[in-house]
Amino acid sequence: MKRIVIFGECMVELRSQQADTMAKSFAGDTYNTAVYIKRCLPAFSVSYLTAIGADFLSDELLLTMGEHEINTDLVFRSTSQNLGLYMIRNDNQGERTFAYWRAQSAATQTINLLADTEFECDWFYFSGISLAILDDEQRHKLFALVEKLKASGCKIAFDPNYRARLWDSQEEAQFWTDKGYGVSDLAFPGADDHLMLFGHTNADDIFSYLADKNIDEVVMKNGAIGVHILRQHEQCIVPVERVTNVVDTTAAGDAFNAGYMAARLAGKKPVESASYGAKVAATVITYPGAIISKDAFESHIPSL
Ligand code: ADP
Repeated sequence: MKRIVIFGECMVELRSQQADTMAKSFAGDTYNTAVYIKRCLPAFSVSYLTAIGADFLSDELLLTMGEHEINTDLVFRSTSQNLGLYMIRNDNQGERTFAYWRAQSAATQTINLLADTEFECDWFYFSGISLAILDDEQRHKLFALVEKLKASGCKIAFDPNYRARLWDSQEEAQFWTDKGYGVSDLAFPGADDHLMLFGHTNADDIFSYLADKNIDEVVMKNGAIGVHILRQHEQCIVPVERVTNVVDTTAAGDAFNAGYMAARLAGKKPVESASYGAKVAATVITYPGAIISKDAFESHIPSL
């Protein structure tokens, strides 16, 4: 069985429904990708590498991961820190405002808790958020681990997912994002991320910036405008059908990455995979919350 390991942080998501009621669920960029990859590729083993607490919400998350058939063999427990939490408010256009309580979360200690535990996988996926939550020492250890995985034949996928407030400075974010790109076989830059992090205003800027990073496949997302793919020096644009009834754009990019990777791993070509990823993303944004129900998902997404 092929194995994907996805590293990052899953938090409690509280989404306002009315003035004084909230719906509780679990989400986080890499976790969302893990759940959607598993839905698209049931035959693959998907493990989530993270740390959770000893609190009751952490127990609930573990059960939820089991329900999603995510392997929890790489979920570590902190005895002193809890799960992170965020609240989300959506306006009528589906745009969102977030408030976070995550600075001291258990996941910030994942690489320390992983310690010398060894694992193997076919693909390892992480994001700029996975990097941002770690201290420098753990970031260096993570890259040592990634190099070891690469040496064993594992492929690396990376989404820069820039969240300015998680970094001490823009320069720090640029440095570690560059390192992420530097080890990647497949990368998912977002137009907004590159605009904010590097000041890039179009796909050409992004592709020339990444030219010396030696990435096999670069898949650039740009909302409803389309997807640009650069592979083996060939560039193509895949149009995206604009969704008019957007309910909640949370996890659009994460869902896209999941659909794209799943389709590629199922043997589809890049263009077809981008259309599949776009379909997964388009479905997710027409429902509230990061993780939509399995029934809703399966009613829109054909199996690979
Ligand atoms: P992020 O969530 O990382 O900001 P994007 O906004 O670029 O990422 O969206 C990721 C993907 O979601 C896009 O590549 C596209 O496939 C899909 N998407 C986002 N917004 C829309 C929309 N309004 N209509 C259709 N698809 C969309």
